Amino acid sequence: MRAVQLIQTGKLLEDRDVPIPEIGPVDVLVRVRAAGICHSDAHYRAGISKMDNVPVTLGHEVAGRVEKAGAEVTNVAPGDRVCLHYLVHCGTFKFCQRGLEQFCTTVQMIGKHRDGGYAEFIKVPATNAFQLPDEISFEAGAIMMCSSATALHALNKARFKSGESVAIFGFGGLGFSALQLAQALGCGQVCVVELNPAKLVSAKKLGAVAIDANEGDPIEQIREATNGKGVYVSLELIGSAKTMRQAVQCLGILGRAALVGLTTDALSVLPYPEIINKEGEVIGVSDHLASEIPALIEFARNGKLSFSDDAIRVVDLDAAQINAALDQLQHSIDHVRTVITQK
Ligand SMILES: [Zn+2]
Ligand SMILES: [Zn+2]
Repeated sequence: MRAVQLIQTGKLLEDRDVPIPEIGPVDVLVRVRAAGICHSDAHYRAGISKMDNVPVTLGHEVAGRVEKAGAEVTNVAPGDRVCLHYLVHCGTFKFCQRGLEQFCTTVQMIGKHRDGGYAEFIKVPATNAFQLPDEISFEAGAIMMCSSATALHALNKARFKSGESVAIFGFGGLGFSALQLAQALGCGQVCVVELNPAKLVSAKKLGAVAIDANEGDPIEQIREATNGKGVYVSLELIGSAKTMRQAVQCLGILGRAALVGLTTDALSVLPYPEIINKEGEVIGVSDHLASEIPALIEFARNGKLSFSDDAIRVVDLDAAQINAALDQLQHSIDHVRTVITQK
């Protein structure tokens, strides 16, 4: 089968011809119909994230049709439309048993530690496959498996409740989903902080207060939009110490800041005025959980989470096109996601 692989970090991805994976009794073989191209993939290609298992087929946002199912598989059958949870875990160790598989000591992410969806077929344990209803396109199903799922996990980790106000820092794939999910959960006012004019326009179109960080201090703008109160929940989706600090500073009383973007830079906050005095919380968010995926699929099925045609660009399963899409991710792109589609 054809696959687009990372052969060596720091080098371009390459077209390869590789064997179709053999499945075991608990696995499924999925014919890939859509695979999202994520910012993380650009990091993997560049070697910013440690890649121990090259050559590897990238692609952790995957949807398709079950081609073959192992003898012990009961949750899906050949022909089913499915989307794939990207963390393959053991299911038996302490954190796995608590449903916190992102802390599994042997966890493997598809498209990083094991072969992913930039290929004609992918093998995963059947427990990673979730039925994708006909109302949801393969493209949307794929994208949902990373940014939307993580956005929902961030809202869950922040214990977001109906009626609460939200500030979203960064309106890429995560922010686009976070806004819609917050609205689906019955949020109060939502402020979206961005620098990219096209993204500010689309946030406003979706009903958010667009906070243009080019136009002065976003904290002041958020305070103004919330009658001086600040927000209950803030989501930092950019991965910069500066916006993380802002995500803490914009909190109101009992506010919770969920940090999702990745950075190793030090975060400085003023403990008394910015956290203690308002009993604020700073919460780390890592990946998302298989147990959150059914709710996510339900939001998408009801149209509460959707990706319009102009949010998605499509490319072929072709190394040159995929490398070009990864290059684009080094700058702010106007659309939400580029997706590799196959018939
Ligand atoms: Zn991703
Ligand atoms: Zn485990």
